[in-house]
Amino acid sequence: MTGIHLDDSVMTTRLDAVVNWARKNSLWPLPFGTACCAIEFMSMMASRYDFSRFGAEALRFSPRQSDMLLVLGTITNKQAPILRQVYSQMAEPKWVLAVGVCASSGGMYRTYSTLQGIDRVVPVDVYVPGCPPRPESMIYGAMKLQEKITQETLKGRREHIERFYASMARQE
Ligand code: SF4
Repeated sequence: MTGIHLDDSVMTTRLDAVVNWARKNSLWPLPFGTACCAIEFMSMMASRYDFSRFGAEALRFSPRQSDMLLVLGTITNKQAPILRQVYSQMAEPKWVLAVGVCASSGGMYRTYSTLQGIDRVVPVDVYVPGCPPRPESMIYGAMKLQEKITQETLKGRREHIERFYASMARQE
């Protein structure tokens, strides 16, 4: 009679590891496209670059159904509260990619009307450089986000958000 060996049928892991594995492979992107970077994003989602390979092909235009906010383009100061509200309507856990120099730092628009980086209103996880970034760069940014998610702990995630809101409160 053949005995059942425990190591044939049981696998042990850490809770953080298995949760992060699921999270990083099932991202739900919300594109906040305001300018030319959004055109490159369309290319990234189409068949040539095929972002669905990374488990993130299901775009959602409702913040309540998304966990990856991609900010694609110039954000004006008037749009900043809207961006912040969209972010706040997303359920935790959620991540933010600043795509292109406009979203990352205001880019070439050193003007009174342009937000000089979206990290003034939402916590950014990954910055993707370029004007516009090529689809490969955006994919690389998304892969960096996946790496970051892999290393997160449930407690660390909460502390990251709390630190951001504490810094916002100090500025107000
Ligand atoms: Fe357009 Fe360049 Fe700004 Fe992207 S970074 S929105 S391509 S000006």
